[in-house]
Amino acid sequence: MTILSSEELTRYNRQIIIPEIGEQGQKKLRQAKVFIAGMGGLGSVSAYYMAAAGIGTLKIADMDHVLLGNLNRQILYGINDIKRPKTESALEKLRELNPFCHILPVQEEICDENVMDMVADCEIILDATDNPETRKVLNRASVSKKIPFVYGGVNGFSGMVTTFVPGETPCFECLFPQNSLKKGEIPSLGPVVGIVASIQSLEVIKIILGIGSPLKCKLLYIEGLDMTFKEIRVKRNPNCKVCQKLET
Ligand SMILES: [Zn+2]
Repeated sequence: MTILSSEELTRYNRQIIIPEIGEQGQKKLRQAKVFIAGMGGLGSVSAYYMAAAGIGTLKIADMDHVLLGNLNRQILYGINDIKRPKTESALEKLRELNPFCHILPVQEEICDENVMDMVADCEIILDATDNPETRKVLNRASVSKKIPFVYGGVNGFSGMVTTFVPGETPCFECLFPQNSLKKGEIPSLGPVVGIVASIQSLEVIKIILGIGSPLKCKLLYIEGLDMTFKEIRVKRNPNCKVCQKLET
């Protein structure tokens, strides 16, 4: 691994002085490639923090354009971005924040036909989508390619985060089997989205560095109105049609 430049050492100094990270950890972050599925509220925050932290490559996928109604929570965008593709605006903002971070925009809808190619060269998938169908597509790719999948969801004042590691934990469909999820417009408040996306980003960083205890087999449930955080133990569904063939 090549050494960190003096500019990188200065830029990342406050995190390099964290004993669990150090210069070696910073180099690991620089080598990492993370797939962010969706560049809405969760994607805005997680991409911003991960670019700032010095993740080497972020592949960001979204096919939507910025709308006025996105701006209460999608903090990468402003009024001048309205009608622009999210990936294009995000690319500009993230490059401006950290030119050391390579941003690979993908302006496509994530589906079974393209997901394997999209995630193949990434070591982690961060779920920043807002619908169960896309999560199921990502989950199948995660299980098939054995790529960890950091799930995040919001609904009003509440949020959820867990990390699926194929072969070690349940998968998305073990927890949310067919037809158990609602569709449609989800109520979202910026700070709640920010909390969930920040926790997801921290999970990604910990997994890359191999430190701490990721949310494996644990679903963190956040209730912002009462400011309570609960951890719910989650188990594999032995009849799950997606992951049942994997050894655990
Ligand atoms: Zn499963």
